[in-house]
Amino acid sequence: MRTADVVIVGAGVLGASAASRLARDGHRVVVLERGAPGREGSGTTAGNLHVQAVHTRRPGQAVPLDSARFAPLQRAASDLWETVEDDLGASVELRRSGGFTVAETPEQVQELYDKQAWENAAGIKTEILGGDAARDALPQLGPTVAAATWCPHDGYANPLKVTPAYLDDAVRHGAEVVPFAPVTAIAREGGSWRVRAGAREIETPVVIDVAGPWLHKIAALTGVALDVAPVAIQMHATVRCSSGLPHLVQHIGEGLSVKQVNAGNLLVGGGWPARRLNLDGRSDAGVDSMVGNLALAVRILPFVRRLRLLRAWAGPLAATPDEMPVIGEVPGRPGFLVAGGTYAFTFAPLWAETLRCLVAGAEPPVDVSDLGPDRLMHNLPEKKR
Ligand SMILES: Cc1cc2nc3c(=O)[nH]c(=O)nc-3n(C[C@H](O)[C@H](O)[C@H](O)COP(=O)(O)OP(=O)(O)OC[C@H]3O[C@@H](n4cnc5c(N)ncnc54)[C@H](O)[C@@H]3O)c2cc1C
Repeated sequence: MRTADVVIVGAGVLGASAASRLARDGHRVVVLERGAPGREGSGTTAGNLHVQAVHTRRPGQAVPLDSARFAPLQRAASDLWETVEDDLGASVELRRSGGFTVAETPEQVQELYDKQAWENAAGIKTEILGGDAARDALPQLGPTVAAATWCPHDGYANPLKVTPAYLDDAVRHGAEVVPFAPVTAIAREGGSWRVRAGAREIETPVVIDVAGPWLHKIAALTGVALDVAPVAIQMHATVRCSSGLPHLVQHIGEGLSVKQVNAGNLLVGGGWPARRLNLDGRSDAGVDSMVGNLALAVRILPFVRRLRLLRAWAGPLAATPDEMPVIGEVPGRPGFLVAGGTYAFTFAPLWAETLRCLVAGAEPPVDVSDLGPDRLMHNLPEKKR
């Protein structure tokens, strides 16, 4: 049996970014990944960097997220994204060209003002424009747009580059990344953890569970039940188009995010449910969400009507009952930390730095004391472990 200072379970964007930060601190880090790194939530994500407050409910979401609590976290993550490329010495196609969130009804316009109050309180710069002013600023917006918020810090990073760049950095700093190594057992013995993946057994004082939609399954190996409900949502990509869309466009009341990526394709998403969540294979995109999402995109950005759909895909994410992120040590499980939940792509640099601080026993960059796993947990009976 070998030893490590930290074992990270899951090589999505959170596992990769945490591995990079911890390896730089001189820890001997091992990342165990069930399949290929960066293929699940972090490989299927839209890749938006959400800095202005997001719509509080994706289609079908029962509980709205708490935007007032979210905004300071978004602000902190936004600041960290500024240095990601320099820090990693790699291009991740980071773009901070700003974004619009549109409203169509009087109630939605009011929501723009409500969210601006949270943004102001968090130090996020936004401006509310009337419909005509918004169309002057972004002529592609359609006639139903009654108002829009502009935030210069919204952005995008190519997810297919972000996780690999963090993993490369982790490996350069001595971390070991083991793909196709599903973790099947985690036991507490003699004051440390023993983590098993296939024939490997690693003894470590610290385990970080960043298994995304499988977060609760890894926690269950330590005898803790976490209320994390995986869902699958879907994305759509159009063919490349010459008419440029320089900014991210979102909707305050309905599920919509649209931007043009470097290759020229438009990515259309917004949290529409996939046809089927499949945690043992690939989740499937469905026609109903495709039609609903694209019809909304055409209404807000009428030029989208002229574009052919190239492909659609679905991916899983970890949803908590209160729709808020979860990060921290599991009470009663010393050295066993979890991190995940919504918008983990935007939060990746922030959660990586937070995990680094939690492992070091240092003050994290943001207060996460109310985001810990205690609010989601109950102990499992012995036989269910
Ligand atoms: C379609 C879609 C669009 C999205 N759009 C955005 C967006 O625009 N902006 C944003 O901020 N967020 C977005 N999200 C959410 C965001 O992408 C995810 O929250 C984030 O990528 C999750 O990262 P993660 O590292 O926590 O989990 P994941 O990327 O899912 O990684 C978890 C990893 O754990 C591994 N694992 C599971 N079980 C085991 C085991 N037993 N042993 C070892 N490894 C295991 C998995 O194989 C996986 O690789 C979107 C999500 C989806 C699906």
